[in-house]
Amino acid sequence: MSKRTFYAVSFSALTLLGLAVTQSDAKPDEVKLITQGVWFREGDLMGKGHCNNIIIEMKDYLVVIDANFPSGAQAALADIKKISSKPVRYVFDTHHHGDHAYGNPVWSKIGATTLAHQGVVDEMKRYEPKRWTETSKQREDVGSLKLATAEPPKQTFSDKPFVIDDGNRKIEFHHFGWAHTRGDGFAYLPKEKIICTGDAATNGPYNYTADANIGNWPDVLGKAAKLDFKQVLPGHGPAGDRTVITGEIEFMMALRRAVRTQIQSGKTLKDLVTMKDGKPVATSLKLPDSVKNWVGPFLAAQVNDAFEELTMNKPHGDLPH
Ligand SMILES: [Zn+2]
Repeated sequence: MSKRTFYAVSFSALTLLGLAVTQSDAKPDEVKLITQGVWFREGDLMGKGHCNNIIIEMKDYLVVIDANFPSGAQAALADIKKISSKPVRYVFDTHHHGDHAYGNPVWSKIGATTLAHQGVVDEMKRYEPKRWTETSKQREDVGSLKLATAEPPKQTFSDKPFVIDDGNRKIEFHHFGWAHTRGDGFAYLPKEKIICTGDAATNGPYNYTADANIGNWPDVLGKAAKLDFKQVLPGHGPAGDRTVITGEIEFMMALRRAVRTQIQSGKTLKDLVTMKDGKPVATSLKLPDSVKNWVGPFLAAQVNDAFEELTMNKPHGDLPH
């Protein structure tokens, strides 16, 4: 398995490395009411590689943020049935990664419309069916669908935000540019002052930077931060406040700054990152304590990706991988 594939499979791959992420307040598979008609379901990341889901109740139907892996979609669906009898009409893929979009066929099957920024379709064209095929071999839930490739979102938006407004509640779907992936989408509830960020902002050490534009990441989150919100519902990790976004901005800037300083002092990638079986497993680089919420087992891979992005002068996602 290549280095990239290893990281693309799922976060549960971390357990193979014998690494554990401790997040004291993480409660996988718990459905928490955020405000009336908005639920946050924290996915079982370490066990099953699942992302978080947000369930939003409209007058006549439900909107779900992120399709999850197929088994995550099934788990979320089972919980949704306990909280509402309304049908799921829209499922928003915040980006193309398997743990956010490979569950699309599950939602299509129950009559929901999968929705995303056009960049998600483009990313799937770029990376699929390679990743789907590899993941099918490793994950029973993906393999058992017996499909040749990932199912792209059925409805897309590009230049202008996509807006759902039924008089009771309004959801705006935004794209602010390339951070975690080229197709990063945000769901924003202006009245409730809530933003759902996908993996453009995670609450914990979960940043995956292989398909990213690390240099542009703070700018994208800066644009999102201009919206008026109090609560942040991230793609991974527990729900939080605005500091999930401001801290993520600080982390990305600190990472890039620290790596650039090392490059300027003549350090090579080998000096900074220890590789094992072609995978970055450890780094000598230290980041400030103020961003420690985002520092964990992925730091070596993040340093590797930032180093490559800076030395090759291209967003990491534009480098062959
Ligand atoms: Zn992701």
